Amino acid sequence: MSNITLALAKGRTADSTIHLLKKIGIQFQDFHEDTRKLVFLSEDASIKLIFVKAVDVPTYVEKGAADIGIAGKDNILESQADVYELLDLKIGQCKFVVAGKAGDFSPSKQRLTVASKYPNITEQHFRKKGMDVETVKLNGSVELAPLIGLADVIVDIVETGNTLKENGLEVFEDVENISTRLIVNKASFATKSNDIQLFIKRLTVGLEEEYENHNG
Ligand code: AMP
Repeated sequence: MSNITLALAKGRTADSTIHLLKKIGIQFQDFHEDTRKLVFLSEDASIKLIFVKAVDVPTYVEKGAADIGIAGKDNILESQADVYELLDLKIGQCKFVVAGKAGDFSPSKQRLTVASKYPNITEQHFRKKGMDVETVKLNGSVELAPLIGLADVIVDIVETGNTLKENGLEVFEDVENISTRLIVNKASFATKSNDIQLFIKRLTVGLEEEYENHNG
C-alpha cells in the first residue's frame, strides 16, 4: 500500500527529480517525460506519484490531496499556500529579478508599472521596499512589456540571462533565489510523521551523495 502521495511538478525540473528519486531507490517504471499518464505507483509501492502542473502543486498539498509536493520556489511563493517547506533539492536553480530596458531604471518615478507572471511575488517585493506599484499580470513573454511601453519594469525568472540580453533588457535588482523545494501538508506532517521524515531523510542522503559526486 502507498503511504505517501507525492505531487510532482510537470516541466523543466521533473526529469531531474525523477532521477534523484531513482537514486534513493524510488522508481516509477512506466514514467517518461512525455507521458499522458497522471498517476504512478513506485515499484516498492511506498509512494503514489501524481504528475500535475507546477502552479497547482502547492494547492494539491495545501488541500491535502497530496501529502508532499515537489515544485519550484516561484510557484510556492506565488501560491501563498499554507504548507511546510522542508527541503531544498537544489534542482533548477535560477532567480527572480527586477529587470527593464538597459540604462532606463527610473527609481524617482512616482508609481512604477510592473509586468509579471507572478503578481503576488511582485507586490510583496515592492511592498517590502515601501513602494506602491501597479502590477500588470501577464501569462508569458513578459520581456516584451518594457519594450512596448506596457510596463516600466518586469519581475521575472532569469536563468542564463540570455533572454534579457537578447531583448536589450538588464537586471536592476535581485529579488529571490529559486530552486526546487519539497513542501509538506501540515496535517500529513503530523499524521504520517514517520513515513514523511524517512522520505526526507532518504532524499537528504541522496542529495549529499550527488553533491559529493559533483564536488570530488
Ligand atoms: P534565461 O534566458 O536562461 O535567463 O531564461 C529566462 C527565461 O526562461 C524567462 O522567460 C523565464 O521566465 C524562463 N525561465 C527560466 N528558468 C525558469 C524556471 N526555472 N522556471 C520557469 N521559467 C523559467
